Order: sequence, then C-alpha cells, then structure tokens
Amino acid sequence: MYDFLKKPLCLHNTVQHYKWGSTPPDAYIPQLLGIDGEKSTNYAELWIGAHPSAPSKVNIEDNLVSLTNLIYRFPKFILGKRVADQFNNKLPFLFKVLSAAEALSIQTHPSKGQADLLHKTDRHHYPDKNHKPEMAIALDSLTALAGFATYFQCHKTILQYPEISSFLGQDALSDLFPHRKLSRKQQSEQLRQIYQTLIHLTQTKPGLYQRSVNTLAKRLQSKQHRHSLRESLFLDSLEKYGSTDVGLFSLFLLRIITLKASEAIAISPCIPHAYIKGNIIECMANSDNVVRAGLTKKFQDIRTLMTVLDYTPNSVRVISPTRVNNTYEYPVFTPEFKISRVELIDNSQIFNTANKIEIFLIINGDGILSWNFNENKEKISKGQSFIVPGILDNYTVTPRSPMTMFRVQVP
Ligand SMILES: [Zn+2]
Repeated sequence: MYDFLKKPLCLHNTVQHYKWGSTPPDAYIPQLLGIDGEKSTNYAELWIGAHPSAPSKVNIEDNLVSLTNLIYRFPKFILGKRVADQFNNKLPFLFKVLSAAEALSIQTHPSKGQADLLHKTDRHHYPDKNHKPEMAIALDSLTALAGFATYFQCHKTILQYPEISSFLGQDALSDLFPHRKLSRKQQSEQLRQIYQTLIHLTQTKPGLYQRSVNTLAKRLQSKQHRHSLRESLFLDSLEKYGSTDVGLFSLFLLRIITLKASEAIAISPCIPHAYIKGNIIECMANSDNVVRAGLTKKFQDIRTLMTVLDYTPNSVRVISPTRVNNTYEYPVFTPEFKISRVELIDNSQIFNTANKIEIFLIINGDGILSWNFNENKEKISKGQSFIVPGILDNYTVTPRSPMTMFRVQVP
C-alpha cells in the first residue's frame, strides 16, 4: 500500500527574497542550489518544510504535491506514528538556510502559553498557536544580537553614550543603576526596568528621542576613528528606518555574538535577537509568530513586546557540536527538532530513522542515496534536500566526493 511513499522524496523548496538577503555574486543560496541568481535580487531564505505560507513540494508520480498536503493525507506514513501522535499530525519543525547581508529586525517569539493567547486575540499578526524556539548554526560566520548584555555592560554602554544617558535622564539613571551589589535575579529585574524606561520614553517623548538619536548620529559621523559594529549598525539602521525606530537605542543594550563556522546559538522563546550578517542553517518549531522590537518598518506591538521579553543577562551561549565519529551533534533544547552535521569522506553510511520523519540537506559533495536494502538508488548532490518518511526504517548514503549533510530529526 502507498509504495510511492516508501522512499526518500526530493524536495522543491521556496526561496524568500526579503530585502536583507544577500545578492549575487556573493549570495549563498544560489551557489548552494547551483543556479546563477538574478543580479539585483535578494536571496534571503530557503524554506524547507511544511509551513502553510511556503510549503516544500514533492514529486509524486509526476505531480508536484505540497508537503503540507501529503502529510495531511498520510500523516502516520510520512511523520511516523509517534511524531504524528505527539504533534497532532503536523511536521513539528521548519528548516531554513538563511543568508543575511544586512541586519534583520530585532525580534522575539512568544512562548506557547503567550502564543495561544495572542493568537486568540489577534490572529492576523499572530498566525500560530505555537512557540518558536530556534537554533542558528554558522556555515561560515554569523554576527547577531542575542539576549540582553550583562547589567554592568549596559551601565558602561549607557555612560559611554551621553546622548542615551541624558535621554534616560539623570534621575532615572540613579534608580536604574543603584550603588549596591545586585544578585543575578536583581540584575535581570533592573534590566527590565532599564529597557522598559527606554521604550516608554521613546513612546511618550518621541521628539526628544529623535533629537537624541540625531545628535548621537552626528557625533558618530564626525568621529575620526572607525565605528564599532554597534555604532555602524545604529547608523545604518537610522538611515534605513528613520529616527523614530524604537530599536535604535535599545540595540545598545543587547549582546553582540560572533560565531565561527559550525558554532551555534539556541534562542529560547522570549529572548530578543537579530541576525546581523552571515550564512546560517536555521531550524525552528513550525511557527511564524514574531514580536518585533525595532530595526523594521513592519508591524510592531510594543505592549506585547514588554510583557513577553526575557531580561536574563547573558542568556544565550555559544554552542559547539559534540563529535561522534563523522557526525557533529547539536544539543537538543526543544522537543520539536534536533540537528546534526554529517561529514562523509569515502565510506557508505546507514542512517536509521527510528521510524520518525527526517529531512536532510546536502551542502557539499555528491553521492548515491539508496534504500530498501539497496534495491533502489538515486544520485544526489549539493543543494538537494529530501524528506525521509517515517515508514522507512533506514537509508544509506555513499559519497562519490566528500559530502557534508545537515540532518534534522525529531528527538
Ligand atoms: Zn527569530
């Protein structure tokens, strides 16, 4: 029954052309897919999965069928029984390749409970009931804002930029940075106050905010030495989004993280973040709920932002994968997905699926994919991605040139 499903299925994926995406000849996604790419087009994200707004498609008996549809019709075959039961007949994760030439908006994603509530009251802006923990793995490097900096760093930064400290006001400053030792919890509470005061003032004193932003910009522009990464981000964002953008000052409170190739960050719900530059593999729970906090012209929900944010200082750590033979495993931090990178040099490798759906993407090399005790074979190469239905116990990959694959499974 349904023999056409008992095989790895090659995926046809959607490229998203958001404005911050890289453009040829430097764009990563066209290089990965082996296409030329149009010169002034932004290649921002490749979506691999079953999100309703851009599901991948599979070729079933010469028809392109959306993966969402296929899962809807054959949930237990495609997802595997356990995944189908656990995640209500839906693919729990969305897998992406992301290529940022410029900063994305500062954003956070609500927790499950918050998402459920937001979805009930505002379906248009919060299309999912789900949370959206995400993991970003650098393919070459990644620069990102991720979580709040420490209380002491924030204090130092605010004093370093008198435009920000005078905007906050001298009286507020002594309340925000009291002269006494604070526990980690108190520091996080204090960060909440600092951020909320800042955002509150941008809303209640917009004229003063714009003047302060412009004064800082003028001073930085007249500076002789090179701008720091944060200062460049401030100046670029001011040019793009104008002096009313709420993120312009708050970006000074967030932590800047730089990842080397293969390093990763895991972003839990409610952590503010913005990817600034780099090519990454990204995986997230299947959701598109975004609460924006600046550096954008899109819809911003300041009130929700204030209630959902996690103010823990230094909450995001840089993760290196654990190596097991030729596999580099990233830690599991959410029930929806786990990611590993596999390096195949010359030996075949059998991959066991534990009868749960998985998706793999080849980012380097080529080889042969076989299944059904090697009765069926197919050539595979860089840029291709496959879903392996839960009905299939295992598959084998034999490299013909050194291969690198990213594999996403359900833990
Ligand atoms: Zn995000």
